[in-house]
Amino acid sequence: MPLKLSNLLDRFINSCPFFTRHCVLCGKANFAIGICEDCQGELPWFHGPSCPRCAIPLAVAAPLCGQCQREPPGFDRLDAVLRFDFPLAGLVHAWKYGRRYELSGVMADVFTLNVDNFGEKPDLVMAVPLAPARLAERGFNQSEVLARAFAATLASPFSADGVWRKRNTPPQARLTLAERRRNLRDAFGVDPAVKGLHVLLVDDVATSGSTLSALALALKKQGVKRVSARVLARAISSKT
Ligand SMILES: [Zn+2]
Ligand SMILES: [Zn+2]
Repeated sequence: MPLKLSNLLDRFINSCPFFTRHCVLCGKANFAIGICEDCQGELPWFHGPSCPRCAIPLAVAAPLCGQCQREPPGFDRLDAVLRFDFPLAGLVHAWKYGRRYELSGVMADVFTLNVDNFGEKPDLVMAVPLAPARLAERGFNQSEVLARAFAATLASPFSADGVWRKRNTPPQARLTLAERRRNLRDAFGVDPAVKGLHVLLVDDVATSGSTLSALALALKKQGVKRVSARVLARAISSKT
């Protein structure tokens, strides 16, 4: 492991009795990743086959799900660490809306689990940007927390300003699929310097995947070669 300041800090914190971490789910004292090993086992992991393109679970293994065959998304591949389900959904909600900023470290830890299984290393890691009004209201971009941690773990560059929202769009979660698409039309600005790169987009939760898809299309319009996406959680919803 390369000798990085963050590694040294981690080692110091993990060995210091004043910094004992407690599992955010059961409260047990824990030196590992903020969720103890027992509770990690209770997280909503994916079991069985899923679509390699959009990460939706499949009854039997197949090269693509029906939806991706009918209408392929803008991104080339989506990986989801977990399903958006109990008990993760409550933690994500508390993190984003309940001002539980201390959950950032735990979420980043979970997001960077199993990085060794990650495929082709991207040239650039980016977070799905928040609209300015949303960022002001929430105080932080949860996707950026995950993206920065993942870029550091992969030792890939992270770009904080390569993509941005051009306007304040209504939250996707309250909209139908048709409204989501309308909402996202021409919603993103992209720095032309991304041309020819393999970009990894990071988001906290994918529901229909329409935000990631629209952003991937905006990147490809600027000549991005490949767009991978990774989310902390994939919601299995009827809105897909
Ligand atoms: Zn626990
Ligand atoms: Zn699919």
